[in-house]
Amino acid sequence: MTKNNVVTCLASHSALNILKGAKEEGFKTLAICKKGTTAFYRSFEVADRIIEVDSFSDIFDLQKDIEDTIVIPHGSFVAYLGLDRFLDEFYVPVFGNKEILKWESDRGLKSKLLKESGVKIPMEFEKPEKIDRPVIVKFHGARGGSGYFIAKDKDEFYKKSTGEDSLIQELIIGATMYPSFFYSVIRERLELFCVDRRYESDVDSAIDVDHDPTFTVVGNFPVVPRESLAVKMYDLGGGFVKASKKFVHPGVIGPFCLELCIDRDMNIYSFEFSGRIVAGTNCFIPHSPYSYILWGEQMSMGKRIAREVKEAISEKRLDEITS
Ligand code: AMP
Ligand code: AMP
Repeated sequence: MTKNNVVTCLASHSALNILKGAKEEGFKTLAICKKGTTAFYRSFEVADRIIEVDSFSDIFDLQKDIEDTIVIPHGSFVAYLGLDRFLDEFYVPVFGNKEILKWESDRGLKSKLLKESGVKIPMEFEKPEKIDRPVIVKFHGARGGSGYFIAKDKDEFYKKSTGEDSLIQELIIGATMYPSFFYSVIRERLELFCVDRRYESDVDSAIDVDHDPTFTVVGNFPVVPRESLAVKMYDLGGGFVKASKKFVHPGVIGPFCLELCIDRDMNIYSFEFSGRIVAGTNCFIPHSPYSYILWGEQMSMGKRIAREVKEAISEKRLDEITS
């Protein structure tokens, strides 16, 4: 392998997007596949090399073999590798600011960064006894909404809670929209990339018999916000970039997503962010409306990441976009 011309990722989440984009920009690609998934990834011919593993955490033992490549992180990294191990033991260059994944995973840090960005955030309740309005109860880590539940008051909370440590958050009634952005360090600019919403089981079920929905993500839809709303989203993205520069040196690098909910009075709340590529960008291969307008060519999020890496390499600035 020649140094830095290979893009590596774990084969799940947004791997097809990342690998296809990397190939289009002229990189060689390496996919780490869990046994049982290799045939699927091989069938798309986007991986020049496949390493088959029993568990994604085997990537720690493969580091010597892949140390000259650039790893693109996505939602599976923290979910399957464990944040602490990923931050402490993983020394292969990772695209983006790894540190921001810590802020994404910690509820206190997450709220601090969102508040500094200038977006409203739903109220949080430290104890079930303090619940004074309908809440959504969430569990930690990128679990894709599985097991979340809604409670009207503390009694309902105790009836439904399994005792697992959770975040109790005000339930916002509104429409969710998840704008994804790309902050380019090389071009020093913020790009609104796309907007998606999630398809969740069973809250999105047409058949509503149990009235007790959970929010397990099963897919994503593209959505185009009113243009006046897109303007506000762009401002919030700018606020996030600024806040991340203040708290998470050197700030966010590349893709990030704000999970927004817009109520009937057009108040915009954010309950989460992701400091890396989200799976909603998979709706926009080969391009999104915004990326087409900006680039005048097909530009997926995977390709946008690879373009940034390519430009960084040609300007000898790779260290500015990896960590
Ligand atoms: P998977 O690709 O299904 O192995 O998912 C990897 C991790 O990312 C899991 O923690 C999932 O819950 C999360 N994830 C996968 N797809 C999505 C999605 N479309 N939206 C949000 N999270 C997701
Ligand atoms: P999250 O894991 O925080 O992205 O949440 C998963 C899903 O739960 C979201 O896609 C929303 O549909 C829903 N959700 C999360 N937080 C709230 C909230 N505070 N109010 C209403 N719905 C929410």
